[in-house]
Amino acid sequence: MKFDVVIIGAGPSGLALACALAKTKLKVAIIEKNSKNKFSNPKNDGRDIALTHKSINILKKIGVWKNINTKIISKVKEARILDGDSSNFLHFDHKKTIEDSLGYLVPNQIIRKAIHKKIQTYKKLKFFTKSEVFKICSNNSGSKIYLKNRKIIESKLTVIADGRLSKIREKLGIYTNKTNFNTSMTVFRMKHKLSNNNIASEYFQYNQTLAILPIKKNLSSIVITLQNHESKKFLSLTNKEINLKIENDLKGNLGKMILTGKKYSYPMLTIYANEFYKDRSVLIGDAAVGMHPITAHGFNLNLRGVDILQNEIKKALIKNIDISCENVLKTYDKKFRILSLPIYLATNGIVRLYTNQKPIFKIVRKSLLRLANIARPAKNMIIDRLLLNNS
Ligand SMILES: Cc1cc2nc3c(=O)[nH]c(=O)nc-3n(C[C@H](O)[C@H](O)[C@H](O)COP(=O)(O)OP(=O)(O)OC[C@H]3O[C@@H](n4cnc5c(N)ncnc54)[C@H](O)[C@@H]3O)c2cc1C
Repeated sequence: MKFDVVIIGAGPSGLALACALAKTKLKVAIIEKNSKNKFSNPKNDGRDIALTHKSINILKKIGVWKNINTKIISKVKEARILDGDSSNFLHFDHKKTIEDSLGYLVPNQIIRKAIHKKIQTYKKLKFFTKSEVFKICSNNSGSKIYLKNRKIIESKLTVIADGRLSKIREKLGIYTNKTNFNTSMTVFRMKHKLSNNNIASEYFQYNQTLAILPIKKNLSSIVITLQNHESKKFLSLTNKEINLKIENDLKGNLGKMILTGKKYSYPMLTIYANEFYKDRSVLIGDAAVGMHPITAHGFNLNLRGVDILQNEIKKALIKNIDISCENVLKTYDKKFRILSLPIYLATNGIVRLYTNQKPIFKIVRKSLLRLANIARPAKNMIIDRLLLNNS
């Protein structure tokens, strides 16, 4: 079986690229190790994805945004960053932008369902499910993709979208810059007595970070990041103990807190690939850049990468040049690196600065927040970074 483009991994990044290429003359296939039901009907994974306006435009362009029920979308009108025990905060307001909000929150499960709904309308896309890739061999004309079920699929361009722990990336010999923060992020939802007023808050406390994402007036998604051993202790607390802890951590800002539903925990390991392409294969999504979720940029960057790649592929088609040639893949690599590297490094820097307990770090972080609050250009730059508006 021969295809022009084979995408390995039917996660949100792989499927978004498939949607973007579906209307071209290219023969596109998607290979996914899980069953069709698992990715067409994804379970709730607790993640509420903060989408930037640029991401929404990309989702509109690929026909996915209209599949998301507007009742499920929550607006973030303001963002506050608080440090330690101080009640001063760095403040961002959508009124300082031309948009109606800083961004929108949508559950990951809903984004995945919406992408899948769109994918189903493209009958010419070929799916290989319950098919795990274990090897790729490339030559001058393309690649052979070997599946564990002994099938062999041929492709001109292979897109690797198998997530941040990508085994295919490793097999291709692409090295990554990895950082294990030895922390875990636990996400869950809580009802609260007082309104969140559509404000997203990030509390950089001295032994944990706590993010409050506004879902409805009296319902928020809570994201708590703790050292791994502390995270285990947190997960063993009773619901009553969690209610009390979060209420105290927030100094009663949202009133009485009540945990609703399950808790989901994720280890914090970030990766950045040293190359985004090799031979006739190209990396997208978390397989290329696996961000720390603290700045909520992971999927937003993935979409920007997908957009850059689909653009380069379409330009190659117009010029009638090979879509997997070095020039095309190199241009994608360069453009996506310029966009993603500063954000990746800055995010890891913020995590290091705000999780270090040494007194000097506490002084630096307090000073930085104060400075950013009064220096308008710095604040505008942070807003641009938050909204990924800088390119
Ligand atoms: C707690 C948390 C909160 C987050 N919040 C935000 C946020 O607010 N904003 C934001 O922008 N991002 C956020 N993110 C990041 C975002 O969720 C991820 O960037 C995104 O889901 C990654 O999608 P992906 O398709 O690249 O990878 P994945 O979803 O990991 O998909 C990879 C796919 O490849 C398949 N696969 C793997 N190996 C093989 C193989 N060998 N053969 C075939 N198939 C294979 C897998 O089964 C899977 O379906 C958050 C992440 C976390 C953990």
